[in-house]
Amino acid sequence: MLLRPDQTLYNFVCCKHVVQKRSLLVMLTMLAVAGLVLPASAQSDSDLTIVYLDVGQGDSTIIRMPNGKAMLIDGGEREQTQTILNMAADLGIKEFDVVVATHPHADHIGGLIGVFDVFPVGRVLDSGQFHTTKTFEDYLTAIEENKIPYAMARDGDTIDLDPTVELRVLNPPATLPFGSHDPDQFNNNSVVVKLAYGEFTAIFPGDIEQATEKRLAGSDIDVDVLLASHHGSRYSNTAPYLAAASPEAMIIYSGADNTYGYPHEETLERISNLEPILFRTDLDGHIKLVANQTHYRIETSATDKTVVVPEFQDLVVVSLLPIAAIIVTRRFSAWRS
Ligand SMILES: [Zn+2]
Repeated sequence: MLLRPDQTLYNFVCCKHVVQKRSLLVMLTMLAVAGLVLPASAQSDSDLTIVYLDVGQGDSTIIRMPNGKAMLIDGGEREQTQTILNMAADLGIKEFDVVVATHPHADHIGGLIGVFDVFPVGRVLDSGQFHTTKTFEDYLTAIEENKIPYAMARDGDTIDLDPTVELRVLNPPATLPFGSHDPDQFNNNSVVVKLAYGEFTAIFPGDIEQATEKRLAGSDIDVDVLLASHHGSRYSNTAPYLAAASPEAMIIYSGADNTYGYPHEETLERISNLEPILFRTDLDGHIKLVANQTHYRIETSATDKTVVVPEFQDLVVVSLLPIAAIIVTRRFSAWRS
C-alpha cells in the first residue's frame, strides 16, 4: 500500500461504523512493513492527551486538557511517584489541578503520597472510603500537611477543568450502600469518571466489580475507549457491561507476571468477543492517546521488555516499531453524517 503525496496515514482510517477493526490492524501492519513514517504527533492547542502509565501492578492515568489543565487519576504503588512526575514533565504539566483517588487500595493511592509532597495539586477527589492501612493513613496525612482541598466525588458530579471537556462522575452513588468502612465494597465504590471531548469518549472505572458494572450498564456508557475494570479481573468486565460500553479500544492495567494472574483469561475472552483493539501496560508500556476534533491516536512506548523503544517523540518511525506504534485514528466527520 503506497501513500499518495497528498495523503497521510489518517486518510486510511475511519470510524468503527465504516472499517472493521481487523481490517484496520491489517492496514496498519502493512504500513509498518512498508516502513512508512507517521506524521508528527506534537501536541496542538486543540489536543486532549491521556496517558495510561505503566506503573507495574496498579493504575495511574494522566489527562491533559486542551487548555493545559491536568488531572491525575490514581498513582500506582508508592514507588511509582517518580514515574508520574517524569511523565508530567514530558507533557509540560506543572500542576495537577485535580487528583482523583478512585478507592483506598495501595495500588491506586500509594504513588499519590509522593506527588502530594512535591508537586502542586489543586484539589483531591476520592470515594470517601476509609482504609486501616499505613498507606491510607499516609495518604490522608499528605493531603492534610500540604493543605490540599479535598472533597468526595459522587454520581452526577462534574469536574470542571476545561469548557470543551466534560468530566462526569458516574460512581459511587450519593450514599454508599454499605457505609464507608467496608473493605468488601472498596472496589465497587470506586470513583468512575466518564470523559467526553467532542465526539471522543472514554471511561475510567477504577476497580469496580460486577454489582457496579450492572448498575452502570443501564446508563449511557457507550464509549470509544474503555479502561478495563480491576486490572482485567474475571470478577469484573462482565459481558453486559462490556456490550453496553462497546469500545473500539480497551486498555488493561496489569503488572508483568503479577501474582493475581491479571488479566484473567475469562476476561480476555469476553473482551475478544467485542473485538476492540487491546492495549496492556504489561506488554505495551505507557499508552498515550491524543484526541482532537478530527481523530484520536494511540501510541505505546514498548511491546515487550526486550525492545528498546524511544520515549514518545514528534516523529515515530513505524518500521522500527512494528507493533509498538499502533495507531488508532478516525475521522469523526465520517460518522456525523
Ligand atoms: Zn487495583
